[in-house]
Amino acid sequence: MLNIFSVTAAACALLFTACNSAATKQPATDSSSVSTTTTSTTTQTVKKPGKMGTNAEIIARKQVPILCYHQIRDWRAKDSKTAKDYIVPIASFKEKIKMLSDSGYHTILPDQLYDYLTTGAALPSKPIMLTFDDTDLDQFTIANPELKKYGFKAVYFIMTVSIGRPNYMNKEQIKQLSDEGNVVASHTWDHHNFKKFAGKDWETQIDKPTKKLEEITGKKIEYFAYPFGLWNAQGLPELHKRGFKAAFQLAEKRDPNDPLMTIRRILDSGYWSAKTLSNSIKNSF
Ligand SMILES: [Zn+2]
Repeated sequence: MLNIFSVTAAACALLFTACNSAATKQPATDSSSVSTTTTSTTTQTVKKPGKMGTNAEIIARKQVPILCYHQIRDWRAKDSKTAKDYIVPIASFKEKIKMLSDSGYHTILPDQLYDYLTTGAALPSKPIMLTFDDTDLDQFTIANPELKKYGFKAVYFIMTVSIGRPNYMNKEQIKQLSDEGNVVASHTWDHHNFKKFAGKDWETQIDKPTKKLEEITGKKIEYFAYPFGLWNAQGLPELHKRGFKAAFQLAEKRDPNDPLMTIRRILDSGYWSAKTLSNSIKNSF
């Protein structure tokens, strides 16, 4: 019997390690700038037809900041020091989302990011992507209504084993997020380490969750996030083979041979103030 609490706790512990080690790395030194449509205040992309860029061209484009969230709730006495990195208190979350809006950020979705990275398609001014991992219910009850106040959209990386369990989103809630214009994407069946996938794991952790999420949303599932942010180069062709357009890790260096499958995100820590988040966004991408 799988204990979801221990899975999540393990995810947090490992994520913390991954993110922490990345935090000591130098920020990217990409010199090109994001091309923007300064008049646009919506999340609509002006699509430019263009040929697919090379990996070197993709790497050379300025990275779009991408934030990763888990639980949005107030801290409890029994939350561990490490867990609090993954739990953003409600008032703090609201303050951070307001800060992003007040600072002029516009949320974008994975198709826009993909078009930008591969063809140089224009993005709104100050683009940012908000992502939520692990299917936690408070992402639907707390985060989503807050994002709506500012016209923000987000990406929800769903771990399908937990759908409908207590404190996790159910099918109807996931469908609603999708219907409202957010993107539902895959985060495996039960959060196994991608680096250890072998044999039947590809079916269990990737193919079946994709099918389930496509049944729920009625849309193609084309994006993936690595559990714990962990990936290895050997596994990346398996994602291409299955039609994924891009995959998201945490803050490690991208694979120069496959930048679309190793897109970087930073974890917005529960300890961070809105000011700290603002600085981290500027320094990490
Ligand atoms: Zn996760």
